Amino acid sequence: MSIVTHTELTEKEALLQAEAREFAQQKLVPGALERDRDAAFALDLYKEAAEAGFIGVKIPENLAGRGLGLFEECLVLEELAGGDPSFALTISISAGLCGGHLLHHGSDAQKESRIPELTKGAIGAWAITERVAGSHAAALECEARREGDAYVINGGKMFVTQGMAFESMVIFARTAEGKDGISAFLIEQDDQGHRSVPLAQTLGMRSAGTAEIFFENCEVPAERLIGEEGTGLRQAMQVLNDGRVVLGAMCVGIAQASLDAAADHAQKREAFGRPVSDFAGLRGLMAESAIDIATAREMVVAAAKIRDAGGDNREEVAMAKLFASEACLRVCDRGIQIHGGYGYIAETPAGMFWRDARVFTLGEGTSEVHRNLVSRYLFDS
Ligand SMILES: Cc1cc2nc3c(=O)[nH]c(=O)nc-3n(C[C@H](O)[C@H](O)[C@H](O)COP(=O)(O)OP(=O)(O)OC[C@H]3O[C@@H](n4cnc5c(N)ncnc54)[C@H](O)[C@@H]3O)c2cc1C
Repeated sequence: MSIVTHTELTEKEALLQAEAREFAQQKLVPGALERDRDAAFALDLYKEAAEAGFIGVKIPENLAGRGLGLFEECLVLEELAGGDPSFALTISISAGLCGGHLLHHGSDAQKESRIPELTKGAIGAWAITERVAGSHAAALECEARREGDAYVINGGKMFVTQGMAFESMVIFARTAEGKDGISAFLIEQDDQGHRSVPLAQTLGMRSAGTAEIFFENCEVPAERLIGEEGTGLRQAMQVLNDGRVVLGAMCVGIAQASLDAAADHAQKREAFGRPVSDFAGLRGLMAESAIDIATAREMVVAAAKIRDAGGDNREEVAMAKLFASEACLRVCDRGIQIHGGYGYIAETPAGMFWRDARVFTLGEGTSEVHRNLVSRYLFDS
């Protein structure tokens, strides 16, 4: 039961949304809690999602994508996130950040060799964060030293989504001092000299295979450099601008699913001889959640549409990501309250949504970093 929905979808958009919703409800929902409990990723379902065209919605058709826009990608990821947040997160990183990075900054050979694989269900990762550098990405220390026709990479990457299962990964490493000394590289699973260690006890996103990766004399051919040396950080910021819109859409999807579950429970659960949905206190909580969701959705849609029209929209993106991620957390927290003690059990949809939602005020730029960004636009400094 969705009580807040998109308005003014074209027939094609509504069809795409309906297809994604059906896939989420019929394929993702049934095993999501088990996968969350077991920290197990559904690779078979991932391949099915690829066949159904849900991976690489905005990748051009000549690279095996759907050739649609960021808005359509948001429509799909919103629905899939409501079915299984870890699954949607994987698509957003694999096709969105890894595939999107290669699409915008890669050579023709890099695009042609990797992007069709990603849209057909190969797993991609995108790794900038290190133990010593998260919000302050420009301080990263992983190093890539040029040696003849190759680069030799040494260092590590932290919190890499699908860092255990990736076939291709975009990483950022230092080729010179300073923020203009960071370069992007394409790493393949069968390259020698890298090792992944699972971070199995993440609070949420437990089936998205978060890992730490170590590079020890990992030698890659010079053609694996993406774009020009020293442009890595600028490439990352451009790619994250789209990624943050999609992240906002996933927050909307999780929040909607959490509210739907809470409203359903409230109508079935009785106290004092009536369904708890009769009590004004709970109705107020649900009304607040509906308003949070509707507002977040409008902000995400606006940011996506400006981007699709070719606009420079970092301001709208920062505001949408910040609001949607915090709204999602509020909604999921209310969801637990509405479920009473049953919401406090980890292996319930309410518990999973709350744990999964928690990452979004951290990932792809924390709330504090986003407040800094928004205030910078206000004061132009
Ligand atoms: C489950 C999960 C998956 C992830 N997946 C990926 C991935 O696939 N690829 C990847 O590269 N990274 C990934 N990340 C990393 C994520 O993007 C970082 O955790 C995030 O950028 C924050 O960095 P940090 O953890 O080092 O925190 P820090 O940067 O150390 O921040 C600590 C605190 O200080 C605050 N802070 C820092 N700087 C400022 C400032 N200037 N002003 C105000 N406050 C500030 C932060 O907001 C935060 O509250 C993932 C993280 C998690 C938990």
